Formats: sequence, structure tokens, C-alpha cells
Amino acid sequence: MTIDFDNTYVDLPDRFYEACEPASFDDPEIVRVNEGLARQLGLDPEWLDSGEGAAFAVGNRVLEGSRPIATAYAGDQFGNFVPQLGDGRAHMLGEVVDDEGQRFDIQLKGSGRTPFSQRGDGRAPLGPVLREYLISEAMHALGIPTTRSLVAASTGEQVRRSDGPEPGGVLVRVARSHIRVGTFQYFAVRDDVDGLQELTSYALDRHYPDLEPEAPVTLFDAVADRQAKLVAQWQLVGFIHGVMNTDNMLVSGETIDYGPCAFMNAYDPETVYSSIDERGRYAYQNQPGIAHWNLSRFAGALLKMADDETAMQSKLEKVLESFPERLQASYEEGMARKLGFEEFREEDGELLADLLDLMEHHEVDFTLAFRRLAELADPAPDADRPEVGDSFAFPPAYDDWLHRWRTRLRDCEAPSAEIADAMREVNPAVIPRNHRVNEAIEDAVERGDYEAFHTLTEVLENPFEYPENHEELIRPPAPNEAIEATFCGT
Ligand code: AMP
Ligand code: MG
Repeated sequence: MTIDFDNTYVDLPDRFYEACEPASFDDPEIVRVNEGLARQLGLDPEWLDSGEGAAFAVGNRVLEGSRPIATAYAGDQFGNFVPQLGDGRAHMLGEVVDDEGQRFDIQLKGSGRTPFSQRGDGRAPLGPVLREYLISEAMHALGIPTTRSLVAASTGEQVRRSDGPEPGGVLVRVARSHIRVGTFQYFAVRDDVDGLQELTSYALDRHYPDLEPEAPVTLFDAVADRQAKLVAQWQLVGFIHGVMNTDNMLVSGETIDYGPCAFMNAYDPETVYSSIDERGRYAYQNQPGIAHWNLSRFAGALLKMADDETAMQSKLEKVLESFPERLQASYEEGMARKLGFEEFREEDGELLADLLDLMEHHEVDFTLAFRRLAELADPAPDADRPEVGDSFAFPPAYDDWLHRWRTRLRDCEAPSAEIADAMREVNPAVIPRNHRVNEAIEDAVERGDYEAFHTLTEVLENPFEYPENHEELIRPPAPNEAIEATFCGT
């Protein structure tokens, strides 16, 4: 098996990365191969699923044409700037170009120590590897830009973590690039203007080829736009990233680094799952503001390239000021679609706010409430609709609101069946509920039983359809099933 690597990041100056080889593991085994993604990249899924594939997936076997590196970056972690982070447990194997000419990084995560490891062991426990696989692929199926998961493998060795030894794992991650806001900060804090300029043209060329090259403000505007859309999409499905540090924000606009992330069940804007986020910095309702703050840090890094600092600062600030509106516009557009409207009108603001208030007050499930609206919009729902569709009902307190919503729906021109269909395409029936994700991971890690992991992964490939015979994956947790905290586990 060969992979047609076409590496460009290694052609950047030496100080952008450290060349280093992945570790070696005695007994690697494949847990799951992403067949569709493998084919898209021109890789043979059957080979990936073999012993040789396992050796490749954990880094034992570095294929010809691969030039493994750990990339350098900095970042603001929970608001504190750390001038040097870098890939401490990840090896970028190289880049491949898919059948549509799109370029992707292939990276191993959990593949051993690098020159950036500091005191870390360079390893990843299997649990977080499975969580990232599951949730990143679920996000993709929900239509949200994200890094992808090609392979999850176990290493056969134990890693030591605070709760004792755990089985180790490696994730083969695929991303449009791994250029983070923190990558820019890395050069900015070193006053490395040449480095910043090289990175800017590289990022523009790779992600925004139609835009003016070498223009920091152009790049900033483009990234702000993608981040506005991205975070709006998170809000629309109730996704809580959990660690929105600037080193976890990509200039490509993909979601990256699935640590203690989770999806909201009952609507509560203060929802936080991450066990390390004690003050709720990265709570659901704070995500737009944090994205804005991260972009202000990005602007600060770009400003180091200015010839005329005042002029550039005012341009960057203008973009920055427009960010909350852009995000809000994207969110409202998405909410209009979720509610079945063609566009979001000014008066819809109140309708939406009242709905969210009711949801919060009655602790109503965010996902199922919107899905239910799709069903209520349909005058003649399919006779063969699975019964689970009825597992949710609005409390009577919604009657007045539902009446207002129906009245508003009458302004829409499309026939109601069409409206309902369009609503089903944006209101998922099933999301990766935290208690189910935890259960799947526990079965795998504690008992080597991967059935729940595979089932959940497969069901989440079609989140806009009710899965047959899996009502338990649709329903929100009963009070005794709820998992309130997720651990970084790194
Ligand atoms: P993360 O929390 O995964 O975004 O990682 C933050 C930083 O910590 C990055 O520089 C990682 O490379 C580093 N890091 C996380 N876990 C490990 C580990 N087990 N060994 C070495 N470095 C790590
Ligand atoms: Mg990270």
C-alpha cells in the first residue's frame, strides 16, 4: 500500500515544525476504519483494516513519502497566553489531495512524544480517541465543518492517568490543515514578522485561494466569516466545544480538538460539561463571545505585520466589530430554517426568544423540541413514521406559543409538507447524547466491547432520520442517566 503524499507544510521554514518520528507500539489493533473517508482520500479501507493498516495507524510504520512533523504553535488557554505549545503528542504524516483536488493533512494523535511534549507522555487514552472519532464524525454528518476521523486504533499499551492506568489509543485525524490562531501567535510573540508573512500567504493560498494573497486583513476577514458561521452552527445544534482556546481554533474554519465536548440535552444556556471549566468560561451561551475574543487575539498577532500600524489596526477592528452581527445573522438564518421560515424577520426575534425562554423554564429537550416542530408542521405525517417520533410532547404551556408559530408559518409560500421536509433536514432526530457516548466508551475501555461504539457511530451517520430499533439513542437521559461532567482525559 502506498499513499500519494504531497507535502507542502514541510516546505515552510524549519522553525515552523520539528521533524520527528512517531513512537512504536507492540500490539496495535484497529477499532474502526472510516470507509467513506478512506475512499474519498484514495486509500484502501481494507488495507487500513489489516495488521499493516494498524501498524500505519499508530505510527509503527511510516510509509514512503511521509515526512512526519510536529507543528509549532502557541495559544491562549483559558485566557492565559502560553507562548509555546506545539504538537506534544501528534505527528503530521503529510498531506494528500482527494479526487476533487482538496488538500488534507493526515495526522496521528497519541503517537508518542515530540520535541514539544514538555512533561507529557505523548500518549492518548483510548476513551478520548473514541470520543473524538464519534463526535467529529457526528458533526460532519450534521453538516458542520470539522476535522474528520479516519481510523481509531488501540495501541495495546496502558497509559497512566490520574485515575490509574487506561488502555492507550491513536486517532488518525484528517483536516484541511492544522493552522491554528495559535500558530500565528507563536510567530507574533517571537516578533518573527517573516514567519508571520510566510504563514499568512500559506494560509491564504491553501484556504482562500480566490482572495488577495499576502494580505493579513483579507485573511482576518475570511477567517472571521468562517468562524461566525461555524459557531452559529454549533449553537443551532447545542454543541458545546468545551475548550475554545486559541490553539483549538483553526483558520480553515473547521471544528477541532474534541476534548470534553458534549451536546446539550434540556435547553439551558449556562450548560457546561467540561470538568476543568470551573467558571463556565466556555459555557454554551459564551461560545459566540469567546470566538470574538479569540479573533481579537488573532488580530493582535496579525498586527505585528503592519507597516502602518494605525491604519491596519483600524481595518482589523472594523472586521472585529462586525463579528457579533455576522454570527447573529448566521444564527438567525439557521433558526429561521429550524422554525420552518424562509427568512428571519425582525418580529421573529421575539418568537424565538419566547420559545427559548419556555424551553429553559420547562427544561425541554433542545433537539427533540425542534424536531417535534417539524412534525407538527406536517399536516399528514408519514403513516410509517416510527413511533419514537412521538416520544416527545410539548407541555401545555406551549399552546399559546405554538399558535403564534402556526400563524407565522401561514406566511410561508411553500406547501406545508415541503416546509416540514425542509425542517427535518435541519432539525436532527438523533445527536451524540453524552450519556450514550459515555456508555459506548465505557464498554469499549473497560470490557473491550465495541458494539455500542459502532452502533452509535453508525446511527449518527444519518442524524436527520429516526434510527430503527434504537429509541434509546434518541431519548434524552432520565435523571439517573445524565452525565453532567466530561473529562479532558488527556
Ligand atoms: P489539547 O488539550 O489537546 O488541545 O492540548 C494542549 C497542549 O497540550 C498541546 O500542546 C498538546 O500537544 C499538549 N498535550 C496534551 N496532551 C499531551 C500529552 N499526553 N503529552 C504531551 N503533550 C500533550
Ligand atoms: Mg488542542
